[in-house]
Amino acid sequence: MSTEEESIAAKFAVWCLRCERAYSAREFRKVDGVRLCPYPDCDGDAALDQWDWARIRHENPIYPASPLRGHFYPLHARRR
Ligand SMILES: [Zn+2]
Repeated sequence: MSTEEESIAAKFAVWCLRCERAYSAREFRKVDGVRLCPYPDCDGDAALDQWDWARIRHENPIYPASPLRGHFYPLHARRR
């Protein structure tokens, strides 16, 4: 998996509750038979900690339809 800031297609985008980054719904790391968040430094579960990107965007309309890979998207975007 690349860590470059490429965008993730909106229809496949999901978000990790643990590391607050987006990835494609078909990606995961399999460790001891468990599907984990694809980011190597995160131990989030690819099912339990996975939210639809649409749900995050509903809370944060300023976020893009297609999130960037590796970018940090807090559950609640800071407001000025
Ligand atoms: Zn994660």
